Amino acid sequence: MKTYDKIIFELSKEGRQGYSLPKNEYKKNSLNALPKELMREKPAELPEVSELDVVRHFTNLSSKNFGVDTGFYPLGSCTMKYNPKINEELCVLPEFTSLHPLQDEESVQGALELYWNLQNMLSEIAGLEEFTLNPYAGAHGELTGLMVMKKYHESRGDKKRTKVIVPDSAHGTNPASAMVAGLEVVEVKSKPNGSIDVEDLKPLLDDTVAGIMMTNPNTLGMFETEINDIAKLVHDAGGLLYYDGANLNPLLGKVRPGDMGFDIMHINLHKTFSTPHGGGGPGSGPVGVAAHLVKHLPNPRVVKDENGKFHIEASDDSLGSISTFLGNFGVMIRAYAYILSLGKENIKNVGPLATLNANYIKESLKDDYLLPIEGVCKHEFVFDGLKDKSTEVTTLNVAKRLLDYGFHAPTIYFPLLFHESMMIEPTETESKDTLDEFIDVMHKIAKEAKETPEVVKEAPNNTIVRKLDETTAAKNPILTFKALKESQQ
Ligand SMILES: *Cc1c(COP(=O)(O)O)cnc(C)c1O
Repeated sequence: MKTYDKIIFELSKEGRQGYSLPKNEYKKNSLNALPKELMREKPAELPEVSELDVVRHFTNLSSKNFGVDTGFYPLGSCTMKYNPKINEELCVLPEFTSLHPLQDEESVQGALELYWNLQNMLSEIAGLEEFTLNPYAGAHGELTGLMVMKKYHESRGDKKRTKVIVPDSAHGTNPASAMVAGLEVVEVKSKPNGSIDVEDLKPLLDDTVAGIMMTNPNTLGMFETEINDIAKLVHDAGGLLYYDGANLNPLLGKVRPGDMGFDIMHINLHKTFSTPHGGGGPGSGPVGVAAHLVKHLPNPRVVKDENGKFHIEASDDSLGSISTFLGNFGVMIRAYAYILSLGKENIKNVGPLATLNANYIKESLKDDYLLPIEGVCKHEFVFDGLKDKSTEVTTLNVAKRLLDYGFHAPTIYFPLLFHESMMIEPTETESKDTLDEFIDVMHKIAKEAKETPEVVKEAPNNTIVRKLDETTAAKNPILTFKALKESQQ
């Protein structure tokens, strides 16, 4: 390993310094002196490194990181699309960054207008009445949407409704959000083709059901063709339909959740509407609702009066507040810029192009990789590992080998419906050249699995770190210089 590829702690050499600060020129008892109880008894244990060590280490590290700006990133369910740089330029304009959330409404009319416009654009895209932009992430949106659902039933005195139906293929955040919202999760089974088993759903629908959480296309990337029947069954039983719109890419400009009968949904602006994400944020998970639920949306809301002025309002029927102020404004600016730069006409192409790209990869690779569900997929699809199982090369091995070839791995071992799931989502922003390159490499790996399986099983071979012991990393992480020194003793 090269010197600067090591972790910064390992570069420490006794006595080495970046630079030193001048001695404290204030008297011990002056106002600027730290109180005694806050002073360290011994100097902090920090790695001793020169400024040059630090600069080279972190500069090297930054170029080792894989991101959507460095290569193809076909992570299913995560929509790792290219984030246009103009969004970044706009969201750091001082006119936005110097705003303060406690400023007078009158002085932030432009920002409120952007906010209000984005609410309306999302309503139009989703086919719903109104959106709140307050939630900070997809999961936070789910929680908010389920709180709307709960509030709706409670406000009608319908207090028995405590159950939420969630398909067995759902994203893990769905049942988790339902639990956090204080609702009970009931699982509905999928059919072998991945869509909801309507016969399994029917007996679950009684007067204790608050609603159902779904995503369409489902987690396998397949469109739920029985959605109209499902919507009718749930509504007739008095429940509401929640749409997990984290990945709205497949539908953008083609189909609207509101038209399918959904009452509540969230959208991940940081997936579908392009904000760099991963590593925990920043995110934004706006929640949209049908007209009869608008009054329960969280406070505060941005409204426009008859004189064209924008106001921040709170309503008594609201479920309350779920964020500080109005949410993650920077992410909203990016989403707004993204929608406006595509325009009403071009945004209609996002769904069809994402769908075309996914089907192109699927059809090109299905001779080598096991495709459990045939047919046209939407923006993503799932392979169940290599077709030829005799090589004993696993999905994990293929994913690691892809790293050697400079591609990020797809999502693996999710959904849980198959043992060797490999969930691929190319997004609409990739060119045919990139897709062809990926397809070539996937074929090459399938060939290697037959001819030289050890190479694939031992991958990654070219990355800075090899296969990691994830259990040890999780259970005994070495996160401080002190811990490293102790582990070496
Ligand atoms: C990403 C995702 C979520 C959760 O979104 P976060 O912003 O990570 O909280 C929920 N559902 C689906 C289908 C997702 O892909």
